[in-house]
Amino acid sequence: MVRLENGARPIRRTRPRTCIGCGTESPKKGLIRVVRKPDGSVSIDPTGKAPGRGAYLCASMECLREAKKRKALFRCLKVEIPASLYDEIEAYIATLPERTD
Ligand SMILES: [Zn+2]
Repeated sequence: MVRLENGARPIRRTRPRTCIGCGTESPKKGLIRVVRKPDGSVSIDPTGKAPGRGAYLCASMECLREAKKRKALFRCLKVEIPASLYDEIEAYIATLPERTD
């Protein structure tokens, strides 16, 4: 529990959602969550609510490529990332609507 000195009502700490590809902080909405589940498997978490350690990535092929190159998922989740997961993320990005902002 975090106690705030100014007496404000403690709010749940929100961790920054930083893209592991480009390192940019983005609102959670624009990021894909990849989760390492308690059983050690890694998958995309479209709901953003799956239990486990999460890594965030912009819905962008460039960020995915960068993350792959830098082994950012591995470094963030501390678990080997199967090549098939990158294919899955790529396919998932392709299904998302184009961002218009
Ligand atoms: Zn990014």
